[in-house]
Amino acid sequence: MATTTNKQRLLNQLFSAYKADSEPREAEPLPVLEQFIYGICREGVSREMADHAFATLREGFFDWNEIRVSATRELEDVFEGMPHAEKRAQRVVSFLQEVFESTFSFDLEGLQKKGVKEAAKKLSRFEAATPFVVCWVVQHSLGGHAIPMDPAMLRTVKRLGLIDDNVDDPEAIQAALEHLIPKSKGPQFTEILSEITQDYCWEDSPNCSACLAASECPTAQSAPADAATTVRTSRVKPR
Ligand code: SF4
Repeated sequence: MATTTNKQRLLNQLFSAYKADSEPREAEPLPVLEQFIYGICREGVSREMADHAFATLREGFFDWNEIRVSATRELEDVFEGMPHAEKRAQRVVSFLQEVFESTFSFDLEGLQKKGVKEAAKKLSRFEAATPFVVCWVVQHSLGGHAIPMDPAMLRTVKRLGLIDDNVDDPEAIQAALEHLIPKSKGPQFTEILSEITQDYCWEDSPNCSACLAASECPTAQSAPADAATTVRTSRVKPR
């Protein structure tokens, strides 16, 4: 079990390595409705793939209403190459339909006036909602503190020792991460975690030798040298 000091040291190392490696990329500020849809695009994939899908949605259709009345198969092309493309398309259509039925518009900015907790609760009632999407909107549009976490990202935070292996309760995981990571660094942590998960910390044969967390990651440190330095060259980086 990693100590709090070890966790903080690892986080410091991640933040400084990320800063040195690239310009921090802030997520595009979006209204609540669009951020929710972006969250559906972003769950389980890289930023590049999500950006591409979201841009295709916005540019390929006249407006949100056209997407709402589109057949799911027309939207599936938008998510081509992503896991669960059909399900994502269904979620986008069902979300827009639910919003339209309840507000006769495509505007959820009224949620900004509610407290973050109340707004998150309302968002979680949409059929298309997942904990990842709700946390994404809370973090990026509602000014709250939440760390979006899909299953692959959860695997990474456990390998990093930020969350103990035996902790599976989503609320306990959120609470622990919110305690460890300051609110102001939440979006940056999300980008770092997503990048590590998508580019290095694959389920099989994680590419520890290239990972920016390697020097402090307890999993990399405890793995046999040959396993810890596995480099998988056959993986094509997602768009
Ligand atoms: S060092 Fe290896 S195990 Fe640790 S986060 Fe990176 S890829 Fe995953």
